[in-house]
Formats: sequence, C-alpha cells, structure tokens
Amino acid sequence: MSYLRSSFRHPQAATNELGYTQANYEGALSTLCAGCGHDSISNSIINACFELSLEPHKIAKMSGIGCSSKTPAYFLSNSHGFNSVHGRMPSVTTGANMANRDLTYIGVSGDGDTASIGMGQFMHLVRRNLNMVYIVMNNGVYGLTKGQDSATADLGSASKKGVPNMYEPMDLCELAISLGSGYVARSFSGDKDQLVPLLKGAIKHNGFALIDCISPCVTFNNNPDSTKSYEWVRDHKEATGTFDLVPKAEEIIVKAPGSEKETITMHDGTMITLKRQSESLDIKCRESVLMALEEAKQNKQVLTGLLHLNVDSQNTHEIINTSQRPLNTLNEADLCPGNEALQALNQSLR
Ligand code: SF4
Ligand code: MG
Repeated sequence: MSYLRSSFRHPQAATNELGYTQANYEGALSTLCAGCGHDSISNSIINACFELSLEPHKIAKMSGIGCSSKTPAYFLSNSHGFNSVHGRMPSVTTGANMANRDLTYIGVSGDGDTASIGMGQFMHLVRRNLNMVYIVMNNGVYGLTKGQDSATADLGSASKKGVPNMYEPMDLCELAISLGSGYVARSFSGDKDQLVPLLKGAIKHNGFALIDCISPCVTFNNNPDSTKSYEWVRDHKEATGTFDLVPKAEEIIVKAPGSEKETITMHDGTMITLKRQSESLDIKCRESVLMALEEAKQNKQVLTGLLHLNVDSQNTHEIINTSQRPLNTLNEADLCPGNEALQALNQSLR
C-alpha cells in the first residue's frame, strides 16, 4: 500500500498567480481515521496557501505530538517541516523564526499538545507575539492515546467512554486575547467557507495569530453526549459575522451606507472586510470579545469567526530589533563590526 498521491491531475486544473495548481500544495495521503476533522483542516490549509499564491518553499510547517501534529505530512509536501516533541512546537518555531524571518510559519497543534504539556510554551509564545499562525485542532480528547479527556473538554461533556468530564475547560481564545494576541479566531473543521478566509487572514497578520478549530474525533469523541461532536457543534454554532480577505491589488467595494460592513487594512496592505451580524461584538475591543465569549458559553453556544483583531501590535523581531535579513544570508562584513568598533566598546567598559 502506498501513501503517495497520484501525480495525475486534470490538464485544465486551475492555477494561481505563480502558475501552480492545488497539487503543488498537497501532501501524502492521510492515514488518520476516515472522517477525522483534522483532514478537513489540512484541506483548508492547502486551499488558503494556494489562493494566496504562496511559494511552498517559503513556508515552514511546525508541529508537536498527537493526531493533529501528524497532519503536516498531509499538506504542503514541498515546504519545510519540523515535527518536534510534545508541547515544544512553540520553542522550536521561535528558534526557526528568529533565524529566518522570511518564511511563513504555520504551527499545528492539538488541545492536548497545547492546553496541557505545552501550555507554558504556548503562553510565552503569545505574549512575545511571534509572527506565525498557530492552529489548534481541538477535539477535546487525546485521540492518539485512545480518548482521555483533554483540558479543553467541556464540563459535563462525555466522550465515547461515557464518563462526564468533571473539570472546567480551558478556553484558548480567551487566554490568547488576554495575553495580547492581535488575531484570534475560532472555527469548525466542517465549515470550510469560514475557515479558509480565517486562515488567509491569519497568514497575512503581522504577529501571533491563533485559530482554535473545533475538529471532531470520530473515533473517541463524536457521540451525542460530547460538545465536540459534529452534531453538537453544527447545532450550537453562532458566527460573529462573515469575513473575507481582499488582496492588496484588488479594488475594495465601498460599503453600503448603514451596513455593518467594515474594512481593516493589514500590515502589508491587504484588507480584511468584515460583515457583522447586527447585534455582534466589537472585535477590536478585548473586553467586549471576552464578555461575548462568556455569554455564548452560558447560552451553550460556540462563538465562531474572527473574535479579535489588532493590526497595530509589534512582532518579536520588531520588539527586540533583530536583523532584517535571515541569519544565513549574513556574511563576515555584516557580522564583524571591525577593530575600531571593538576598541571603542572595550574602552566604554573599562
Ligand atoms: Fe482523528 Fe480521533 Fe482518529 Fe485521531 S483517533 S485520527 S483525532 S478520529
Ligand atoms: Mg485532541
């Protein structure tokens, strides 16, 4: 049995601005359980990178341990990748990002990998505002080790084993917002129309972007008593509004007077257009979003969409003023200040 995809494609398959077809962004065939939400997220990542016309060799996909962290094998096979140890994807990505700021970093993790063993690393990554996309494939269980409740399982939710979870869940979006992340979104693996634009916006965001994506585990946590099942999420999903990413070169259609549509310019000139639901929240205000998330929980709803956006924050490179160029492009002349500068430095320390 082979896990390699056939290279045969329709001769008239659509191409992007680089002349690539979607096949240039695919990976190996998935070995996850049939119906696992993670495969849908992998496909949305492929769509987002294809539609943004990213050069695959300018992307680095990073992961930890778990079913979710296996997925980088199933997308972007022409990109760089590093499958790190459990919960340590943030520090490995920090090192890579510091060495080469020119790559697009897409980190993939799970609720176990992030909300338990990797929690400390996750929190410091957010507060440092590392320029990366962080996707949590959130199913509320440890799928790879056969279905134990994770720290994002809702109180009272029961997995296939049937025992209701006794502990309060962690809300990774609330945590990221309170630690200062400028791009926080929640989505559902089965809602590609929402997830693909959210991924494109996250890739374009300058700084740390979190997408907490509910992704049902069909093998251990897709039963009627689970709040991470396909059925429950479909029945309780509430969106903040619709969202679209407009590339820099495209004309922005001016909003109709009195509509809830808003256009926000990102760091690189691309625009985010937001069409809010009438009574929805102010995504630029942290307090408003945190209150809306709590209210949704009390109403037994999952609030999805772009939850918080702040395009004015500085990323780690800007905060600590690093080299504008990747370290492997620096030569001796760039790195050696010369004898005079060294003497002056020594003098200043005497
Ligand atoms: Fe997906 Fe669950 Fe199967 Fe893991 S065990 S591949 S999370 S369905
Ligand atoms: Mg999990």
